[in-house]
Amino acid sequence: MNIQTIAVHAGHVPGAAAEEIIQPVAPAIILSSTFQRNPDGSYPGGYLYSQINNPNRAALESAIANLEGGNDGIAFASGSAAMMAVLQSLQPGDHVLAPLAMYYGNRTMLTSIFQQWGLQTTFAPMDDLYRVKAALTPATRLVITETPSNPTLRITDLREIVRIAHAAGTLVMCDNTWATPILQRPIELGVDLVLHSTTKYLSGHSDVTGGCIVAREGCRLTEAIRQCQVVGGAVPSPFDCWLTLRSIATLPLRVRAQSAGAVAVADFLQSHPRVAAVHYPGLLSHTGHHVAASQMELFGGMLSFEVDGHRAEAMEVAARTQLFTRATSLGGVESLIEHRASVEPPGSGTPESLLRLSIGLEHPDDLIADLEQALAGLP
Ligand SMILES: *Cc1c(COP(=O)(O)O)cnc(C)c1O
Repeated sequence: MNIQTIAVHAGHVPGAAAEEIIQPVAPAIILSSTFQRNPDGSYPGGYLYSQINNPNRAALESAIANLEGGNDGIAFASGSAAMMAVLQSLQPGDHVLAPLAMYYGNRTMLTSIFQQWGLQTTFAPMDDLYRVKAALTPATRLVITETPSNPTLRITDLREIVRIAHAAGTLVMCDNTWATPILQRPIELGVDLVLHSTTKYLSGHSDVTGGCIVAREGCRLTEAIRQCQVVGGAVPSPFDCWLTLRSIATLPLRVRAQSAGAVAVADFLQSHPRVAAVHYPGLLSHTGHHVAASQMELFGGMLSFEVDGHRAEAMEVAARTQLFTRATSLGGVESLIEHRASVEPPGSGTPESLLRLSIGLEHPDDLIADLEQALAGLP
């Protein structure tokens, strides 16, 4: 053989690292973009091409579907790509009912790309069931919910929304990114589709961008969403799937500890004289507390609060924190603080005095001490 042939083939026997031979305890990362066919043209493991399917992606999809109690998991390159696929599974002319309190990126997707595409959207307050009912039309195909919502932690009664939507023949999707399947399982409450930005708690270490849709058995949009994934090709890499699956093992421990930390931080902030409001569903004073308690196991690791003052005072508090990292995103092991209004489009409605916290795995006493010294610096 010539040197360039040896360079291509030496050490590379297709399937030679097959897991049945060496039996690694941690799964291998199958980076291969393509898989060898048998002489008869069949595919020995069922895999053909990694854009269509890959062992690491299949493992991740099955794990998330299992956690959510759904039938199908469909993984994407981001939470936003997952949302795109759901909306693309609908037809131009269809109507979607979406929450007023919603992750701004998903809202922008509806009002820009999908408005041009011919999807009709109405935004309604999901905690006002009368207005939800009134906003449904004969063309409504999907009711989108997000609970707790970003960034003001509004709570939606999933059982009630499902009852109203199903009576009208409409499917319900829940963005379960903030609660995670450890604290809230929407499919068990009757929801048809669950959306995750796996960038957040599921991957949990601020080192992956990913998304996933979980569909209940028999959901009529599943095949169309799968088609958007495969034909559209916005799929996660094998390494990102591997990292996310690895992180899911510790998800229950992380989320429970982060929730306990958030309770302590919310209690501290609520009693602080320079804090005008705290948004956390675990507080008895929160308008959605009882509904949250009826559908969540714990209240989660996310909260937001309004500083006594305006934009400058909120920025000042964020600038003075030493343990909290000033960054967007959430769900990682490190605590983050973010001035939300300055990353959202103008008119998003988020108060200029609001700071959003993602509670990590530091000791809550240290986080509270950091917020205490930051608030003490206010003039
Ligand atoms: C981050 C986020 C998304 C978008 O996910 P990406 O992975 O950033 O594309 C959607 N919904 C919620 C609630 C989020 O927090």
